[in-house]
Amino acid sequence: MRYGSRLVIQLNLLEENHRAIKNYYKTQNILMMVKADAYGHGLIPISRFAHLEMGVNDFGTASLGEALTLRGELADQKCNIYVFSDIQLDLDLHREVYLNRRILPVLKHEEELELFLKDPEFKFFPLCLKFNTGMNRLGLKYDRLPEVIKLLKKYDRKEIYHLMTHFSSSSLSMTENKRNIDQREKFASIKSELKNAGIDFVHTSIANSGAIEQGFGIEETFIRPGILIYGPSSLLPKIRNQAKIVTKVISQLESYIIDVFPIEKGTPIGYGATPCPDDGQIAIMALGYGDGFSTTYQNVELEIEGRRCKIVGRVNMDMCQVLVPKDLVIKRGQTIVVWDHERTKLERICEQSNTIPYEVLCRISPRVPRIYQLK
Ligand SMILES: *Cc1c(COP(=O)(O)O)cnc(C)c1O
Repeated sequence: MRYGSRLVIQLNLLEENHRAIKNYYKTQNILMMVKADAYGHGLIPISRFAHLEMGVNDFGTASLGEALTLRGELADQKCNIYVFSDIQLDLDLHREVYLNRRILPVLKHEEELELFLKDPEFKFFPLCLKFNTGMNRLGLKYDRLPEVIKLLKKYDRKEIYHLMTHFSSSSLSMTENKRNIDQREKFASIKSELKNAGIDFVHTSIANSGAIEQGFGIEETFIRPGILIYGPSSLLPKIRNQAKIVTKVISQLESYIIDVFPIEKGTPIGYGATPCPDDGQIAIMALGYGDGFSTTYQNVELEIEGRRCKIVGRVNMDMCQVLVPKDLVIKRGQTIVVWDHERTKLERICEQSNTIPYEVLCRISPRVPRIYQLK
């Protein structure tokens, strides 16, 4: 664990973001995605706060392990915990866990569905289905809808608890991108075919962050925000101005200057002996790839005292080098804010290192303490 570098998480901003989304989606319920340790912010503290203080009753995880950890914490609470990708219903042990711990597996292929339907113990258990409408990753195949309906009928199942699909390209325009339009149309037709076949559904959802930012999913009962509720936008920079909901980054990544010294242009720096691109000062910052601060952040610009300063040379395991202009007065021990609650700094890191905020946030390693604050 480090002491000088930390991820400070402002829980009140999580609440504000939630409110901003709720203000737009007045009647929709929120299924909050908390997979990957709540996008790097800490599964338990985030989910506890979301449930107890913000009134979120539905949580989405990727694995049964995550769901169990969460259920352990919210054991006596009335809330739904969904498992999306790796549910492994065929394992007896898992089957028991779903049944006994009220964890909802989201079924995504026919064998799984049949396993579920023919099991008498699942007879009155909520059935959650995800259809593949064009993501082409996981999900019941759209063109196999007739077979799915047959299966449901064979086992006399008349109700789906939560019917879903997932967009592949919601970071692009929901109204202009062909794939988005096609996926929406396919989901609408799945709903109507099921209805025609006499199969009801209690809940439906379609929108992840990109779609939510653009105001889509209004006709469903749930929305499933992930990254947006933690602050960053899911939209590509060129369509970010179309966002109807803008949130704040709930975390601030802070580090400090371990040492500082003057340097001349051309002096080799650190591993790989990268020549320093300019005269100035080198500040050694206490973040490296051991903290989830990637080697791809070489040449990314940070702000120190409002000035842009580049990360130079290779990012090491425990630290990295930042080139600071000669005239800027900096001191050993001084704090560096890598990103703050405005989106600009985090977005700059993503753009300059060719990555996405999802990865930057998920990558922050356990060595960086998460500090929770309430304004
Ligand atoms: C991760 C995930 C989401 C949330 O995605 P974001 O882009 O982070 O909003 C929604 N639905 C499903 C099924 C997911 O796996």
